[in-house]
Amino acid sequence: MSSPIPKAVIFDLGKVVLDFDYGIAARTLAPFTRTDAAALRTLIDQSPLLHQFETGLISSRELFETVAQETGYHGDFETFHDAFGNIFGEIEPMVNLHREIRAAGIPTHVLSNTNEIAVHHIRQRFPFFAEFDSYIFSHEVGAMKPAAPIYEALEQSAGLTGPDLLYIDDRPENIDAALARGWQSILHHDPAVTVPEVWKRLRPG
Ligand SMILES: [Mg+2]
Repeated sequence: MSSPIPKAVIFDLGKVVLDFDYGIAARTLAPFTRTDAAALRTLIDQSPLLHQFETGLISSRELFETVAQETGYHGDFETFHDAFGNIFGEIEPMVNLHREIRAAGIPTHVLSNTNEIAVHHIRQRFPFFAEFDSYIFSHEVGAMKPAAPIYEALEQSAGLTGPDLLYIDDRPENIDAALARGWQSILHHDPAVTVPEVWKRLRPG
């Protein structure tokens, strides 16, 4: 049995439409601490602290205070906020893909494990980010992929379920959770592979 044509496309953000590097934040902030960039990166990059922040368990201010406590950071909150958030760059072929999907009249949504500092900076820097139909963020839902509640939130927001949704994410565990719900999914590695695959699903034959 072939899959139906998806009615909406869902994008993960990190490493799909936006590249990110917490090494940039660590190098910017390290001179204001008693530690070095490598140790600082360990504290903030894919760490238990980041997980708490992206689950909405701690606020930006609490993140700032924890980093200050653990590293001796003595800059102000604004400097910290800017450095922590300025770690993103567009993955151009995927931003173009998003634009073309919208031009074809197909709704798009964001499903991201992220945090309020990242979203603030992404909104300010990347105009394409304003163009999605809806946004499901882990820190607002209080759950991170691959946990079910964040996928349920997306289904409610999109008003669609199962194979009517086409999801693009770079992490296998996130794709597995989507497939378990019956979503069509693409494990993203390379825009040169993903872009034609998306159009094959949206415009079969
Ligand atoms: Mg990702």
